[in-house]
Amino acid sequence: MSSITELATERVKQLTPYLSARRIGGKGHNFLNANEAPKSATFLMKSITLNRYPECQPPEVIEAYADYSGVAEENILVSRGSDESIGLLVRTFCEPGRDAILISTPTYGMYSISADTAGVKTVDVPPADDFQPDVEAIRNTVENNPEKIKVIFICSPNNPTGNVVDDDKLVQILDFTRGRCLVVVDEAYIEFCPEKSKVKLMKDYDHLVITRTLSKAFALAGIRCGFTLADQEVIKLMLKVIDPYPIADPVAQIAVQALSTHGIAIMKERVAELIERRDRFVEEVRKLDYVQEVFYENANYILIRFRDGEGLFKACADKGIILRDFHTKTRLQNCVRVTIGSEEEMNEVLSVFHSIKQ
Ligand code: PMP
Repeated sequence: MSSITELATERVKQLTPYLSARRIGGKGHNFLNANEAPKSATFLMKSITLNRYPECQPPEVIEAYADYSGVAEENILVSRGSDESIGLLVRTFCEPGRDAILISTPTYGMYSISADTAGVKTVDVPPADDFQPDVEAIRNTVENNPEKIKVIFICSPNNPTGNVVDDDKLVQILDFTRGRCLVVVDEAYIEFCPEKSKVKLMKDYDHLVITRTLSKAFALAGIRCGFTLADQEVIKLMLKVIDPYPIADPVAQIAVQALSTHGIAIMKERVAELIERRDRFVEEVRKLDYVQEVFYENANYILIRFRDGEGLFKACADKGIILRDFHTKTRLQNCVRVTIGSEEEMNEVLSVFHSIKQ
C-alpha cells in the first residue's frame, strides 16, 4: 500500500466507489445503461455575474419547482442531483457507527454507497415476490435491529425493477415509523407515471420525504439538479449539512427555463413519445422466444429476464450497444436493463436481439 493510501481512514480504504455511467460505458456508441434521455435539451444562457457566489438555494429555482410540484417553497431543497440529496439525508439523520438505513434490494445502489461513505450501516430487508416492500419484515427490523434504523429508502418506480410502491403498503410503513425514522420515497422517474406520486401523502406524514430530479424526464442529467420535498424541519436540518454553493449560476438558469410552462410542456411531449416507444419495444421483445420475463413498465427503462442474460449483454456490447447487466444480483439472474433511447437506438437494439439465438 502506498504511503498516501496509508493516510486514508480505514472506512475509505474499504469503500467501493460508485461505477458511474461514463466509467462503465467503455467502447460503445449506443449507451442505454444509465436511464438518460436520448437527446440533450437546449437552453439559452443570459449574461451572468460569474464573479459573485450564487445563493445556496437560488430562490427562482425553488419558486419554479414549487409551482411545478404543488409543494410549498419552504418544503423544498435543491441539490446537485438527487444523489446529493440521498447523501445529505444519511449524513443529517444517521449517527456514524450507531444508526442504520433500511433498503430492499434489488434497488438503486446509491443508498448503501452513501451510507458506507458516512460510516452508517445498511440493513437489507428483501421485498416480497412482486417486489413490493415486505411490510411486516420492515416493521420487525425497525423494532428490533441492533442499530437504530433512521432512514428507510423506497425507490418508486424502483430502479431496476420498475415497480411503484402501493399506497396502502407505504401508508402502513408510514404509520409504524412515525416519530421513529424518516421514510424517503425516491421519485427520480415519477414523470413517466405522474399519477403514482406520493406527494399527496406528505400532508399527513411529516416524516415522509420525496426526492426528485431533472436528470431523467427533463433530460438534464448533465447539469446535476435534484430536489428534496419534505417537512420544513427536515429541510432546515439538511441546510445545516449542505455545502455552501451547490447550485452554480448556469445550472440555476437552465433549471428555471426547464421548469417554465414552456419547459414543462416540452418535457411532457418528450415523456409521451418515450412511453410510446417503450411500449412498442416491449411488444417486440415479448415476441422473442428466449425472453422469459418483462418487468414493470413505469419508467424510461425496462428490466428483462433472458434465457442467458450475460450472453445477451455481451452480444450487444460487442456491437457497441451498452446495456446494464444485473445477472450477478440476487433475484435478478439473467436480467438486463435497457434504457429507452431514440427510435434509431431502439431499432438497433432490436435488430441485435433478433440476430441472437438462445
Ligand atoms: N434515484 C434513482 C432511482 C436513480 O436511478 C438515479 C440515477 N441514476 C438517481 C436517483 C440519481 O439521479 P441524479 O443524481 O442525477 O438526480
